[in-house]
Amino acid sequence: MIRENLTRIYSELPSGVQLVAVSKFHPVQDILEAYGAGQRVFGENRPQEFAAKAAALPEDIAWHFIGHLQTNKLKLVLPRVSLLQSVDSVHLLEAVNAWALENGRVIDILLELHLGAEQTKHGLTEQEIRGILAASWPGVRIRGLMGMATHTEDEALIRADFARISTLLKELRQDYPFLEELSIGMSGDWRLAVEYGATLVRIGTAIFGER
Ligand SMILES: *Cc1c(COP(=O)(O)O)cnc(C)c1O
Repeated sequence: MIRENLTRIYSELPSGVQLVAVSKFHPVQDILEAYGAGQRVFGENRPQEFAAKAAALPEDIAWHFIGHLQTNKLKLVLPRVSLLQSVDSVHLLEAVNAWALENGRVIDILLELHLGAEQTKHGLTEQEIRGILAASWPGVRIRGLMGMATHTEDEALIRADFARISTLLKELRQDYPFLEELSIGMSGDWRLAVEYGATLVRIGTAIFGER
């Protein structure tokens, strides 16, 4: 089933849009099945689970971290992360930057814009994002923006969220052309996300089934 699901998504995904297979709560065997079908980019949202799976699975997997990360858990995630998608506070950014400098690394990150007011406290305001971009962070490479649309069946609301992050990114790219990535879209809304310029879609349920 996992293979069939992936094949269908690959066939629909425009070139230039990368699939992040969100494997959280699913066992290593499921990830290996997806790996066998050619998938190499996986996303996890819990530090312990991220570290355990990264240690157990093939080296050539690119692991994205997509959940809220507390600064006392950096050691579990940063050594193996390929893209930290969910930098949702200035405090976390400062800690990641400091860890990277101490460890002689540069960490690729996305800045998470706060979208979908009701469901989460996490995420940066537009003003915070502009402030971050105006400053210097030698331990990180800021690759773009990430957002989670409002959890709703109402397509107009989802479109409004995607339009907001997409418009902000276009503005920011005028001054910061290195902001290439836009990570929006999940199982239920990734086709819409592609319309709004997604370069990364984070799909779990539609590949692995219900958690
Ligand atoms: C779980 C999760 C996803 C995947 O959600 P599905 O609806 O299962 O595709 C995407 N992004 C984030 C940040 C998540 O936590």
